[in-house]
Amino acid sequence: MPSAEIITIGTELLLGETVDTNTRYIARALRDEGVDLYRTSTIGDNPERIAEIIREGLSRAEIIITTGGLGPTIDDPTREAVALALGVETEFRPDLWEQILERFKRYGRTPTENNKRQAFIPQGATPVENSVGTAPAFICERTKGVIISLPGVPREMEYLMEHKVLPYLRERYQLTGVIKARVLHTSGAGESQIDERIGDLEQLQNPTVGLAAHAGQVDVRITVKAETETEADALISKIEDQIRQRLRAWIYGADDDTLEGVALDTLTACGWTLTVVEANLGGRLIRQLAGTPGPFVGGEVLTSAPAPEELLSISQAACEAKSADVALAVVLIPGETQQTLHIALITPEEDRQVTRTYGGPPLMAPRWAVNLSLDLIRKL
Ligand code: AMP
Ligand code: MG
Repeated sequence: MPSAEIITIGTELLLGETVDTNTRYIARALRDEGVDLYRTSTIGDNPERIAEIIREGLSRAEIIITTGGLGPTIDDPTREAVALALGVETEFRPDLWEQILERFKRYGRTPTENNKRQAFIPQGATPVENSVGTAPAFICERTKGVIISLPGVPREMEYLMEHKVLPYLRERYQLTGVIKARVLHTSGAGESQIDERIGDLEQLQNPTVGLAAHAGQVDVRITVKAETETEADALISKIEDQIRQRLRAWIYGADDDTLEGVALDTLTACGWTLTVVEANLGGRLIRQLAGTPGPFVGGEVLTSAPAPEELLSISQAACEAKSADVALAVVLIPGETQQTLHIALITPEEDRQVTRTYGGPPLMAPRWAVNLSLDLIRKL
């Protein structure tokens, strides 16, 4: 399987003005083709520094994909940088210039002298016609590898990836494999508890199993490489079964499932409606529930935190006020070193009170509290 690196070019990316969405798009496209992505880099509009990164990339990977820096102005450095990296000059390509003139004519505009820059590409490069924009893309083939330079505008880049680059890579590298991923979502357990149960699986080579923790939720990602989609699915399902056996009720869903969605589904299955009273969570729990289809009938954000012993009666009153079957009252009390979470839950079957402490970053505490509250509901 060939390996690849992505280089996104543009000073605006380094300044945090533009979010680099191109890397994500290309990374996923390569993953789906079974190409191993080794590294991604972002670099400003400086030809020498770009050339250096390209040279480094070529020493490690067979496929280098760059985006950006193909515009018509002097600070669009990619053509020159690729030439520099390969030790060649750029050359004027009359055929490209014709295409550019043609496109401008179609848009009813007149090209400037600057646009002529876009007809220069590194010597020996193969132009890739860009039918959705004016900046021609190009491919430089070497025996060791290939550099593919695409425009920065996401729409143009995506079009060229799909219609030109992926077909080219499939042909050149006889790509037949696929990489597939599945994410199992857990709540109610910490990262170390999960790790204790499935640590041995995290050592596997194919599939690989990795954890990502998000305040009160931990994702388990399974990634597999295989020749066919069917083979990939079979490998994933085998390891998923093992993980499910070990983590059991901690797993609440997979891929696009959300904790709030699953929690509300639980209530729907019971035929119950839900109301919420929250304090010190910034309205987060109510916002999350309100944005999810299900039996949430609204709630109230208290401006001051009530005493924990009042929470049950607050829940009772909320149930009556909203004619709800289930009420959840959640209060987060900040402390010196840790935050304390008090929850009261009233359902037609039981009244419960839960107290937990959180010693993680204070900014993450509301998210943790929300996840813990939703975890209680989804386990009803
Ligand atoms: P360029 O090809 O460098 O002239 O880029 C044209 C425009 O595409 C820029 O002004 C950005 O708005 C956008 N762009 C460039 N690189 C990226 C990237 N990596 N992710 C998202 N947008 C980008
Ligand atoms: Mg640019």
